[in-house]
Amino acid sequence: MNKIARRTFIKASAAAAAGAVVLPARELRAQDLPQLTEDDPMAQAMKYVHDASTVDPASRPNPAENQNCANCALIQGEDGAQWRPCQIFPGKLVNANGWCSVWAPKA
Ligand code: SF4
Repeated sequence: MNKIARRTFIKASAAAAAGAVVLPARELRAQDLPQLTEDDPMAQAMKYVHDASTVDPASRPNPAENQNCANCALIQGEDGAQWRPCQIFPGKLVNANGWCSVWAPKA
């Protein structure tokens, strides 16, 4: 291999090695997710609202009195956060003060 060919080979190898470096995928954080909107078709199907106090307790399928997303068994994420993931609405955040017809008490 002559000098020029060797130099070209080294440059190409370096470029290939640099391209082979795989950057770790950016971790998806809860705060990166969009907030669920009340007019979302899935939200409407589940009667989701951002403010549980706007729901007539008599209309709830479960008789428990104090119901909101923060005390629902299906909420995820960190306690105290205003917007949190929910198992029923994957990829979206629900309001901790919200409510939907799937509400279930924490065990
Ligand atoms: Fe809120 Fe629970 Fe309904 Fe999720 S399942 S939206 S946490 S009430």
